[in-house]
Parts: sequence; C-alpha cells; structure tokens
Amino acid sequence: FIIPDWAGFTKHIEDFYWTCKSNTEGKVASYIPQLARMNPEYWGVSVCTIDGQRFSIGDTSIPFTMQSCSKPLTYAIALERLGQETVHQYVGQEPSGRNFNELVLDYNKKPHNPMINAGAILISSLLKTLIKPEMTLAEKFDYIMNYFKRLAGGEYLGFNNAVFLSEREAADRNYALGFYMREHKCYPEKTNLREIMDFYFQCCAMEANCESMSVIAATLANGGICPITEEKVLKPDSVRDVLSLMHSCGMYDYSGQFAFKVGIPAKSGVSGSLLVVIPNVMGICTWSPPLDPLGNSCRGVQFCEELVTEFNFHRYDNL
Ligand code: GLN
Repeated sequence: FIIPDWAGFTKHIEDFYWTCKSNTEGKVASYIPQLARMNPEYWGVSVCTIDGQRFSIGDTSIPFTMQSCSKPLTYAIALERLGQETVHQYVGQEPSGRNFNELVLDYNKKPHNPMINAGAILISSLLKTLIKPEMTLAEKFDYIMNYFKRLAGGEYLGFNNAVFLSEREAADRNYALGFYMREHKCYPEKTNLREIMDFYFQCCAMEANCESMSVIAATLANGGICPITEEKVLKPDSVRDVLSLMHSCGMYDYSGQFAFKVGIPAKSGVSGSLLVVIPNVMGICTWSPPLDPLGNSCRGVQFCEELVTEFNFHRYDNL
C-alpha cells in the first residue's frame, strides 16, 4: 500500500477534521441565489489513494455543485482531445493576480489561464466548437458528463438544474466576460456565444459529493488512471498540464500563497469544495460552504495547512 499505516493516517485526518470544524469564519457565496441557501454547517472530507484506499468523515455523500472545480476537468478534456498546442493558442498559463471573475485579459488579449472564469468560458468554446462540432448542445452535455463520470469511477455525478437556472439568471459578469472576449476575437470561428455560456453554466452546475470528487482527485494523482475502475481516462501529458496550472492558478488570488505554504495542486469552487491532488499518492476532496474574501473555503484551506504541517506532502519537503 502507498500509505502503509492506514489507520494511523486516517486518525490524523480525523483530528484535522475536528480542528477545522470549529472554524466558523467565512461567508457562504450569495451572488448565485441558489448557493446562498447552502447550510454553512456542512463539512466533509474524503480521501482516496492511488491504490484505492478510502476514508470519509462528515457530510461526504451530500451533493454540491462543482462550480470552479469543473474548470480543471473541462481543461483536461480540451487537452486530451485537442492537444496542448491548440488549447494554448487560445488561453494562457499565467496567474491573473485578480479575482476569479474579473473583467481582464492578458497582454495578448487572451484569458490568463483556464482556472478562472474567462479561461473556462474560453475552454467551453473549444469543447463546443472544435471537438465534434456536429454535436448538439444536448449531446455535448452528455459527452462531458460521461467524461466526468469516468473520472469519478462511476460514482455520484449529477446535475442541479435550479443552480444552473439561478446562475444563468444572475450572470451579468460572466456574460460581460463572454462579450469582452468576443470583442477581442478570442473564440474559434463559428462560436455561438449563447450556447457556450449555457455550456459553461452547465459544467458549473454539475453535481458531485466529497466521495466522488475524491476519486476524481485520485485519478489526477494517478496520472489519469482511475484507481477504482483502472480505466485510463486521461493521458499523463494532459494530467501534467492540469496539475501545473492547479498548482499556480487553482486557488484564485490566493494561489501564490497556497503554493508557498501548502505546495500541493488544488482547485476551489464557490460552492465550498476543494479538489486536492497529492501526485502519486492520493486525491482529497473537502467541502464546507463558507468562503474567505478571495473565494476559497475557509475550512478547506485550513485543512490543507494542517495536512502539510503533519505530513511532508509539500512538493519541496524532503529535498
Ligand atoms: N459558476 C461560478 C461562476 O461562474 C464559478 C466560479 C467559482 O466557482 N469561483 O461565477
């Protein structure tokens, strides 16, 4: 086993869980009306190693929408189907140094990276327009959902229509980003803006729970092979690119500090989920809705800090 003393390890995870549970900082996201209704008490942690050992504590089977945690996954699919070179003709690899939904492009008038809204909207256009362009929006939705399911080893994956509709109703900023990129000719030819915005909101409204998300994280930790089904879902090259950008850009405008303090690739979403990848070891998902001012889950960030205090998972430990 990759973690020989599993019982000893999970005892620590349990301790971190209880330490973080008493943290009552942060506010549940309210700019998407349906998200504002989430119970701030929810708190769950699931772990899945690359050899399939599992541990869960707390609210780990309650569904939440993926939100920005879908961004590394749609980016991975784009890389897988189109290759790095094509994808990065349209989107950069640089942290934006700004909020996740800020109306800003880089000096080439491209979105900074695929982990923030502008970049993920752009990735939606690549998925919709360049991969099997003959597919309808309905077929494309199925296609992406199936990919997500394979990453999760067939575990819980759903869609929350109320969150989708709620976000679309209140999406002035995302539409502004969409139009701003059209003004700067960011999209491939024949892109239909209304369709790709819907597609972006649908990806954000995909549902998972801590358990299924920990399998997704473990698939990334395992170079693209799902540890539960042994299916090769992604190429190692795609996974490398995804983890690189999660490392530098996955925590919005906290990414630099997170890379420094925690040193593990991770991606957060406004529903309070956090996808954490310890390459060649395990995937972790934490979920707690209250967010700090930068949009990361307060308990999730604290959990990661606790984790690297106890274990040498920081990339530059052990040198
Ligand atoms: N659906 C959210 C949005 O577009 C995703 C952002 C996030 O999770 N930070 O605003």
